[in-house]
Amino acid sequence: MPQFRANAFLQTQLLRPVKTGRIVHAQIFAGPEGTGKMEAAKLVARALNCQGTGEKPCGACRSCLAFWDNASTMLSVIEPSGASIKIGQIRDMISDISLRPDHGVRCVVIDQAEKMTEAAQNALLKTLEEAPPYAAFFLLTSLPEALLPTIRSRCVTLRFPPQGDQAVKNELEKMGADADRAQLLSSLSFGSVGKALELNKDGEYLKICEDTLSAFRLLESKNDIPRVASALLPMRDKCALVLEMLEAAAGELMRGNVKTPLASVLKARGIDGARLMKAVIKASRMRNAHVAGHYVLETLLFDLFDIYDS
Ligand SMILES: [Zn+2]
Repeated sequence: MPQFRANAFLQTQLLRPVKTGRIVHAQIFAGPEGTGKMEAAKLVARALNCQGTGEKPCGACRSCLAFWDNASTMLSVIEPSGASIKIGQIRDMISDISLRPDHGVRCVVIDQAEKMTEAAQNALLKTLEEAPPYAAFFLLTSLPEALLPTIRSRCVTLRFPPQGDQAVKNELEKMGADADRAQLLSSLSFGSVGKALELNKDGEYLKICEDTLSAFRLLESKNDIPRVASALLPMRDKCALVLEMLEAAAGELMRGNVKTPLASVLKARGIDGARLMKAVIKASRMRNAHVAGHYVLETLLFDLFDIYDS
């Protein structure tokens, strides 16, 4: 089970009711992907079921150990099946929790809760309205607005803020990534440690980052466009990733806070952040209109050179 990474304030807030022996029966954890919502829900579930006498969760009692082995019967996790969470999944869960356990609190985590169909949400609503005293529900979502207002009004909502570049960078360095890589990934993950860790494991992604950087290093003058375009050609099917990197670089240039190697290469070539951003937005639109990847990237290069000439 990964370590809970949300900030200390949030952690205190989450565990306060447990300390006083209170159960919050329905909570929404709202925040971007990778901000520790699942870890937080599991932490509260462990604390609610801990049989230790001191600080909870103790990490040593029978219940805590069962959680560590993913063997606790007190926790169920519902995830989308295909594109959505369907009413059948909610009904199965409701019948499953109708049995009162001998002791402890049955915890139900609904991951990507915004993907519940309306029928599924309505089925859940009845259970939330009359939650069994031995049950706690955690609805995890990056899009709380997509939940029915009736569901939202039944739940206590906790916001999980994005963690910020520096926090992400520190976390990556702790995991052994070198400083350049940590910097690059933190700028690409928009403040989400989870996303950065995922990218860090993705060798293909890192290769695309490196190849994109090498391609832009070739860019000295307008005459280099064909060379840069052919260096980018192998990435034509990964156009979205290249655009994402350029978008992050444009953001750094605009804020005057250049950190990633790509942004410093572009800065050294006199590229203006706002204009790069415009070129990226145009390229993204072309991509969404199913224009071929190599043409999207080539157009972007020409747009950059209009910048040089103006
Ligand atoms: Zn324990």
